[in-house]
Amino acid sequence: MKANDRSQRVAVGIDLGTTFSVVAYCDGKSSPRVLNNSLGKRTTPSVVCFQGDEVLVGQDAKDEQACGELNAASFFKRRMGDGNFSFSVDSRDYSAAELSTFLLKKLKEDAEAELGRTITDAIVTVPAYFNNFQRQATLDAARAAGLNPLRALNEPTAAALAFGVRANDSNAGKKYLVYDLGGGTFDVSIIAIDRKEIRVLATDGDHLLGGKDWDDRLLTYVAERFKDETGLDLFEDVESVNEALVRAERAKIELSAREETKITASSRREKVSVPISRNLFEELSSDLFERTATLCESTLRSCSPALSWNDLEGVLLVGGSTRMPAVARFMRAKSGRPVLSGVNVDEAVAIGAAIQAAADLEAEEPRYYLDSTGREYLLESPKLADVCSHTLGMIAENDDRSRYVNSAILNKNATIPAKETKRHKLNVGTVENPELEVYLLQGEHERPLDNVILGKYVFSGFQRTGAKEIEVDVTYSYDRNGVVDVVATQVEGSRELKKRVETVPDDMAWTDETPKALTASVPTNLSIVFAVDVSTSMLGKPIAKARKAFLSFVGKFDLGTTRIGVIRFADRNDIVLKPTRSLSSVRHASSKIKIDIATVGIANAAIPFDSAYYCFTHKKTVPDVRDANWKSAGELRLAALEKEDGNVVERRVVVVLTDGRWNNQSKAINKAKALAARGIDVVAVGFGGADRMFLQKISTMDEGALFTDLSHLEESFSTIAQTIKEVGRLTRKR
Ligand code: AMP
Repeated sequence: MKANDRSQRVAVGIDLGTTFSVVAYCDGKSSPRVLNNSLGKRTTPSVVCFQGDEVLVGQDAKDEQACGELNAASFFKRRMGDGNFSFSVDSRDYSAAELSTFLLKKLKEDAEAELGRTITDAIVTVPAYFNNFQRQATLDAARAAGLNPLRALNEPTAAALAFGVRANDSNAGKKYLVYDLGGGTFDVSIIAIDRKEIRVLATDGDHLLGGKDWDDRLLTYVAERFKDETGLDLFEDVESVNEALVRAERAKIELSAREETKITASSRREKVSVPISRNLFEELSSDLFERTATLCESTLRSCSPALSWNDLEGVLLVGGSTRMPAVARFMRAKSGRPVLSGVNVDEAVAIGAAIQAAADLEAEEPRYYLDSTGREYLLESPKLADVCSHTLGMIAENDDRSRYVNSAILNKNATIPAKETKRHKLNVGTVENPELEVYLLQGEHERPLDNVILGKYVFSGFQRTGAKEIEVDVTYSYDRNGVVDVVATQVEGSRELKKRVETVPDDMAWTDETPKALTASVPTNLSIVFAVDVSTSMLGKPIAKARKAFLSFVGKFDLGTTRIGVIRFADRNDIVLKPTRSLSSVRHASSKIKIDIATVGIANAAIPFDSAYYCFTHKKTVPDVRDANWKSAGELRLAALEKEDGNVVERRVVVVLTDGRWNNQSKAINKAKALAARGIDVVAVGFGGADRMFLQKISTMDEGALFTDLSHLEESFSTIAQTIKEVGRLTRKR
């Protein structure tokens, strides 16, 4: 088959979901339809399980996971494009894109069996807020699975198509809110319809909120009742918790159809059956509903001009969790607008993707098709306009050249494909072969380091004219996959400059300096990563106290010179926040200091030190130092600090808070030593069941291990803050 032989090409739409995935097909003659998988099911769990040489995908993998299999990966969509995430099995590490490839291969295989044809192309949908890396990773996963990705379509746009929302004269001017509550994510998008196109006006999301949070509420309630009746802690038994979690999800789904159900929990020969009514369930989760409404309202306000509920034609519900009857009721009451249904909420995104896939493939031969509701429309007609989910800018000097700022080029919510050029003056003095460094920033903050640095591009090949300043046009373009390209042109002579892509350096602290005259000595910069144990033994009071202690600890530092990051860990690590000076980000991160079984598991198998090292250096694992003499760790530390070109760059500290005994203590001690040898200190605070000797061993400072109790947690952190500050009087040499 020739690559461009369109008659042989078959394109499907794939909703690659956090918990479930769906494949749909639109053949151009009948309504789009969902393709069953090999088990005859319309949805396939997004779970991959490794068993020796065998890789199970979908329901089989989910079943294994329910039986306590630890080599099963789920919820990996959340970690798409995250270089710090890997799922380790035996000696192999799998990225989220690699796990997605296993899933996509299976989806393709099953869909081919159902269709009886080879599938060549696909549109894979992505959340509207996915950034460049996440979109690229999704497209790469599709390619690796043997699919030609036609584009990465935003999920709300796909959903709107499935609802039969079309761009035409009678719909022009209408606006809808797409409320997408899935298993692990919540997304809000505001779409506007013109005569000719559907535009996404604004989008936002909370990727830590989804159906599983409703499951967790039931699980917590059941664990409390279990403790009341048996005195036993359900969370101490991994298998029991996994079982109870599966039962909690099942009960939640039952409560969508009936008023009452019960959840049975068992551990160590004790068995308790807990009755749950729909009313109780809705009470236990009322704050979660409120959180979704708050995000809807802020997304409406972020439109330009700002919108309110009254400006909407209606609300479109998408995602499996919108089957909970309370969602439609709550949204109707909140918005005062009609809440549209009639489309299968699990399938809307895949159906819309299939409609678009067929349109992309057949763009040159417009035909009439039927949509899922049986209405006929011209397939070529739904022109879709998506938006940039983040502002894209570059690091530039501000007008008076007193500091570096984020100079925005493409604004958040600009319609894509988008292309913008900004002119910059480059002060090159008498340098013969000057180079221009463009750091691509993603985010809306003025201070460069408060944004994500997506890439570094170095441009050369300037034509010198003798002038000290050269004018350069920097152009950012954002294609329909949400992938960014950067081009620079010398204005004089319209010469496109030569581009080289380099890795972003670990240390970008210079962006906080004055561009021209760098001060000889600046106050110490501190970078602290707070690693908090969120294993289930922290459930209840301990976790609430940890959150409070963390915030008061942060209050002891000047965020002008201190960056704060947060890692939570249990069986796995989760970097919640890379070190930043943004107080609002730190505050937001504190809300993530909570039990999150789906993301990090329940017990103490993880060691947070590699992740902490990554936060500071962007390198994956801290190299081993088996031969380093522990006693001289202090000297090693200084040596490491001096080594960085004679500059003491930043004092780096990991603050660990734990109440448990870690599974692999000797490995953790070695990792702590390795950190110390690289100039990074570890301070450990323990309470409850924490092992005092162990804490002393992982601490790299004399006063760096503290054992306390819950009521004194805040005070202990105050002491720790003082310790960190006192040893922190290093001045940066230039
Ligand atoms: P999605 O990511 O869109 O596939 O949504 C999956 C989520 O929807 C999971 O959390 C499911 O537990 C949830 N879900 C599926 N069916 C129902 C139902 N009938 N009632 C409540 N939640 C449901």
